[in-house]
Amino acid sequence: MLLIENLVKSYPGQHGQDAMLALRDVSFKVEEGSFFTLLGPSGCGKTTTLQCIAGLENPDTGVIQMGDRAVFSSRENLLVPANRRELGMVFQSYAIWPHMSVFDNVAFPLVYGVKRAPSHEVRPRVLKALEMVELGHLADRPAPLLSGGQQQRVALARALVHEPRLLLLDEPLSNLDAKLRDTMRTEIRNLVKSLGITTLFVTHDQVEAIGMSDQIVLMKAGKIVQQGSPRDIYLRPNSVFTADFMGRSNLLPGVLEAGGATGRAQTAIGLISGVAGPELAPGAQVMVVVRPQAILVAPATEASGPNRFKARVDAMTFLGDVVETEVEVGGRKLTLMLDPYTALSVGQELVLELPPERCVIVPADEPASSG
Ligand code: ATP
Repeated sequence: MLLIENLVKSYPGQHGQDAMLALRDVSFKVEEGSFFTLLGPSGCGKTTTLQCIAGLENPDTGVIQMGDRAVFSSRENLLVPANRRELGMVFQSYAIWPHMSVFDNVAFPLVYGVKRAPSHEVRPRVLKALEMVELGHLADRPAPLLSGGQQQRVALARALVHEPRLLLLDEPLSNLDAKLRDTMRTEIRNLVKSLGITTLFVTHDQVEAIGMSDQIVLMKAGKIVQQGSPRDIYLRPNSVFTADFMGRSNLLPGVLEAGGATGRAQTAIGLISGVAGPELAPGAQVMVVVRPQAILVAPATEASGPNRFKARVDAMTFLGDVVETEVEVGGRKLTLMLDPYTALSVGQELVLELPPERCVIVPADEPASSG
């Protein structure tokens, strides 16, 4: 549905400074009907990527293909203007027009847009789009008299009224309060999935990305660091950056003894068996990534064996869903998330089990680049 190849984009430098490289060779492919997310910290190039796809910015080089036609290609000197790309877009500042009713806001692209609809089609299409976002009953209301969540739904209806093949959403939930954001997350995902619209979503919030996406591209400083399903990226990070960005983890520095799926690394707490990336060779400086939920508490009688370590409970915080537990192992601190029924107390000696398939061995340094 959407193919991005080797996108490079620079912005002119300000005040005599060098040009700023916002995208450095970005490539990815979005399957038809999927919910695809560009995730990353502020300034990593998510919005620039989206704007290049929308046609609001032009890349320096690269190819953007939608369906079977290219809409941008530096090689062929080809550029399809924004208004001919048949996209729906919703941005952070949802920009609905305050002097118009809900109905007129949604009708705008059909009445004044490039692809105008015959006048007898406007009303039924607007009402259908408003029904989709459950705002049919508010069609005649002036737009400013809506709540933030309702205004965001109007923006969504306006983006969908043309039945676009590709929907671009740039942080559409960030102006909403936390509770409404949760509801809208589910609503947006269910809606675009039921309509079968391919969606490209931009966010810096990893929880949002994990909960909504089929695929995630994680970006850093204009490059893709990792791409995969939320599960892959969370459970199988390829770098310290991904591990850190996607949630909490214990990071244990070490040296690789053996690579591959049955890898081993020597760390300060002892030898840890885990899954190592194919690029890692014995002797490499590595980091063993262990999520706090990955660690099990084994019976004290089973102190020996691979990936078992004696530990002592340092602190426990009861959080309801989980008990955040700090333990000391061989002079290092690890964090565990235990279930709230676990009966442990501070000072207690115990044995930790780190299942090897839950220990991910990544390079100690940041990845130089990846596609
Ligand atoms: P955020 O989450 O903060 O919106 P982002 O990941 O979407 O960040 P971009 O907006 O794509 O990042 O910006 C990427 C880089 O390009 C940043 O360093 C930014 O300062 C720079 N940049 C973006 N737009 C322009 C512009 N019009 N002129 C100059 N530099 C720009």
